[in-house]
Amino acid sequence: MSLKFKKNVEDFICEHCGNSVKGNGFTNHCPKCLWSKHVDVFPGDRLEACGGMMEPINVEKKGNDYMLIQQCVACAKEFRIKVSQEDDFDEVIKIVKKSVDKHL
Ligand SMILES: [Zn+2]
Ligand SMILES: [Zn+2]
Repeated sequence: MSLKFKKNVEDFICEHCGNSVKGNGFTNHCPKCLWSKHVDVFPGDRLEACGGMMEPINVEKKGNDYMLIQQCVACAKEFRIKVSQEDDFDEVIKIVKKSVDKHL
């Protein structure tokens, strides 16, 4: 198993906010609310049977990129995904603020 990233283009309806998302093959998160669904073991493979909703819980800055940390509400597994240019940046800021509030 050397190929961890598989391109799998598909459109989907966000199960959190109902937004219809145009898949680009790599991200399966909703650019509007930044939630996604626990369907990948490795990004794009769709091999995970969990199917829980992935809540965006924190954002980390890594060089010039922002990494979104999502946690599955069903199995508590954490994932880091890159925030893409299509993502709603206001929502990214909200998540940062929310995680700061939690730690106060
Ligand atoms: Zn959404
Ligand atoms: Zn899960």
